[in-house]
Amino acid sequence: MDERLKKYALQDVPRYTSYPTAVQFASDFTPETWVSWLGELPAEASLSVYVHIPFCRQMCWYCGCHTTIPNTYERAARYTENLLREIELTAPMLKGPKGRVRHFHFGGGTPTYLADEDLRRIVERVRTLFGFAEEAEIALEMDPRTMSREKAFALAGMGFNRGSFGVQDFNERVQRLVNRIQPYDMVAQCVQNLREAGIEAVNFDLMYGLPGQTVESVVESARLAAGLKPDRIAVFGYAHVPWFKKHQKMIREEDLPGIEARYEQALAIGETLQQHGYTAIGLDHYARNDDPMTAALHEGTLRRNFQGYTVDPADALIGFGCSAISSLPQGHAQSARDMAKWASAISEGRLAIDRGLALTAEDRMRGEIIEKLMCFLRADPRAIARRHGFDPAMLEDAYRRLEPLAADGLCRVDEESGVVEVPEERRLFVRTVCTAFDAHYQPKPQRHAKAV
Ligand code: SF4
Repeated sequence: MDERLKKYALQDVPRYTSYPTAVQFASDFTPETWVSWLGELPAEASLSVYVHIPFCRQMCWYCGCHTTIPNTYERAARYTENLLREIELTAPMLKGPKGRVRHFHFGGGTPTYLADEDLRRIVERVRTLFGFAEEAEIALEMDPRTMSREKAFALAGMGFNRGSFGVQDFNERVQRLVNRIQPYDMVAQCVQNLREAGIEAVNFDLMYGLPGQTVESVVESARLAAGLKPDRIAVFGYAHVPWFKKHQKMIREEDLPGIEARYEQALAIGETLQQHGYTAIGLDHYARNDDPMTAALHEGTLRRNFQGYTVDPADALIGFGCSAISSLPQGHAQSARDMAKWASAISEGRLAIDRGLALTAEDRMRGEIIEKLMCFLRADPRAIARRHGFDPAMLEDAYRRLEPLAADGLCRVDEESGVVEVPEERRLFVRTVCTAFDAHYQPKPQRHAKAV
């Protein structure tokens, strides 16, 4: 690893799934503001709906998600009832016809932890009260260890047409060290079951930086994963934050690869996937060359939202469940992360929004620059500023912050036009380049994940 890159690799930077990022959400934001924003949403606005299921069967030691391992199914059953109630409370707050949900996503946790009947009730409640657009994407995250052929057919029967699952690494030792045993054959069978059931679109997650991983093991996992021909593969670096996620203490620090090894692993996975017919997308995604996400990259329509890279151009994202984040043209909001607090608000007939942020005109302008960089590794900040009615001179501070980054090869800045580009081989550092345009960014350790 180039010595100049090391300090950037160790830097804590936001994931920029929104701008401003969730750490800027204010706790004095009220559900009343959110309700008034929902009422102002144009009747023809297209919708994206996210449902958070915070339950898993067993804890993976690397997990950074908002999830719990319940002792009995009772908690999940109660949670389902509250979700149904939350969907009912929200639907009348929007005006306009039904049938505008273009993208419906269950995340977690493990949505397939829920009994099929409970999943079906949630899907049907959204279908009845919001309505799906024609050819809507109906997706869920699943755990191959909780999947069966019957479940694949049951999900297809509910209308699901995309399944995502965490593969992470196929190496047996790595799987033991992270407490997630799912052999290659189990994953391959799961993919086959989904496709036979008619759920053709499949996403995988792979990881680097896990205990016991080596360049050889991640290359082998990437090769095996690509051989199963998922449509999209996201590649995430393990974030070791045991002071924040206590179960990560089960991972021994001496088993963790160092920063240089992490960097080599990330590059090696990317190279392997590209050799197997995948196109690199933004920071950390790969899509098959014939996938709509690859087309969106080339056509300039790729977007980034709270769920990561997407081809979903919806005007509004509405989240259900504890900790779910929603996004409207006016701003962002998040429901209570504490499940009991969320449940108590919903059972009293109130929305559980407890943090949020109204976007300013400047936020929108900076957000567009950052989104363009994250999606296309290229942005024309001065043109974007002008289009938003700002004098481009207000970005001079940002250009000054870019100077040392450009000197170290993280980006190129065209002197005349001000266009900023991140070279392909430096894509892992695109978030560092984005920080130059982030008016709120403070390089405080442990606030965000490491760049690599
Ligand atoms: S299945 Fe996913 S959400 Fe659940 S513990 Fe494992 S990594 Fe976390």
